[in-house]
Amino acid sequence: MMNIVLLGAPGSGKGTVSNLLEKTQNMAHIATGDMFREEIKNKTELGKKAQEYIDKGNLVPDEITINMLKGKMNEYKDSNGVVFDGFPRNIKQAEALEQMLKDKNQKVDLVLFLDIPDEEIIYRTVKRRICSNKECGAIYNLEYKKPKVDGICDICGSKLIQRKDDNEETITERLKVYHEQTKELIKYYEEKKLLYRVKLHANINITEEMTKEWLKSYNENR
Ligand code: AMP
Repeated sequence: MMNIVLLGAPGSGKGTVSNLLEKTQNMAHIATGDMFREEIKNKTELGKKAQEYIDKGNLVPDEITINMLKGKMNEYKDSNGVVFDGFPRNIKQAEALEQMLKDKNQKVDLVLFLDIPDEEIIYRTVKRRICSNKECGAIYNLEYKKPKVDGICDICGSKLIQRKDDNEETITERLKVYHEQTKELIKYYEEKKLLYRVKLHANINITEEMTKEWLKSYNENR
């Protein structure tokens, strides 16, 4: 059992790493962004509230986000731990997560920080395309991880879509929010000796081998 938090700017590869860990380590994947997008798609009250913030590139208020997550935490009993993707995004959320896990006699075991230079973020996110099939959720990039057929997922054949908030203006705001709030978590988890930093460069295609190597090296050096 291992609970992993993925930390990194928008477009740093958290979703890709989550998909790989889900597949290779039999872990559950909890992505608060995906949860919000699902609520928006289903036109729920929660979705309507969240959308206002998401469209502007701001964080959805902690209370809404934490309550949503609490509701989902018990759905993942049988997995080999959970990958948290996009949560926590600030100290308050980190403390809430700690408590939620503590209530289940668990903890955060590793924080994987995907460290990518700022100047690459906008370029990576505007070129991102994702599979519209929620069960698949494969992530592509028109620059360095192109689908074989234009606009179609290699894995499941569904249509690829672009996230509404993956436009230059919203990403600029998301990046600002990341610097103002989420980056504090680097120090927070460093002090708890949980942080493992991976330096990524432009146009990198994160592979299964890479994720295995990171886990191995973390376990050997802890
Ligand atoms: P993501 O898919 O992680 O990039 O999230 C997309 C958007 O959903 C973010 O820009 C936020 O508006 C919102 N969001 C996702 N996760 C959180 C969170 N943990 N706290 C607050 N807002 C979030």
